[in-house]
Amino acid sequence: MNPHEEQSAAEEMVRLQIESRGVRDPRTLAAMAAVPRHRFVPAERRHLAWADGALPIANGQTISQPYIVALMTEALRLRSGDRVLEIGTGSGYQTAVLAEVVGPAGEVFTIERHPELSCEARTQLGALGYGGTRFRVGDGTLGWPETAPFDGIIVTAGGPVVPDDLRDQLHPEHGRLVIPVGSRERQELFRFTRDGQRWHRESLGPVTFVPLIGEQGW
Ligand code: SAM
Repeated sequence: MNPHEEQSAAEEMVRLQIESRGVRDPRTLAAMAAVPRHRFVPAERRHLAWADGALPIANGQTISQPYIVALMTEALRLRSGDRVLEIGTGSGYQTAVLAEVVGPAGEVFTIERHPELSCEARTQLGALGYGGTRFRVGDGTLGWPETAPFDGIIVTAGGPVVPDDLRDQLHPEHGRLVIPVGSRERQELFRFTRDGQRWHRESLGPVTFVPLIGEQGW
């Protein structure tokens, strides 16, 4: 595809896969149209970059389905200038969408346990102009305490419980945590909103993610 065809494919993806399923947040829709998804897909599967599904990447991991990336991004209720932490950098696609949504005034932190994936994602994001993003290799279930609190935390792998450390690193008055929780095979996507000592939990539906491996994961 030439760049014009890629742009049309992105806009069609937003219309047919994302808006049609109820995602309405203008910042999320604009980011999904702006980030070149094909740049995060392995060369041999690039022709499938705009298809309605997850795709395999290196290290036995996946780049999430576009609709799920949009649903989780919208659920974070991010604004320009927010600070957001992602657990599970993977291809870096979701990371780029977050960087697009919070803009140059915001900050994106992302943790991946596979060094090769983190390195590749860092290269792609730098090349696309999202060079302000901060990368870490390690166990994301422990969060990134030195840079907390975060306005939003997104976990892109499924664990058995909500890691306590991630709860603790949310902004006490309005932090939002979007996370799949359940069995290894199937999870439910939740948004937790922190309001002082109180927590509000909402279900966003069933999902299937690769396992969250770590001290507070599997
Ligand atoms: N956001 C990614 C994207 O857009 O490509 C999706 C990545 S994939 C569904 C989930 C990622 O979480 C995998 O790359 C996996 O290695 C990573 N992961 C699993 N457990 C982790 C942990 N405890 N800390 C950091 N990364 C983890």
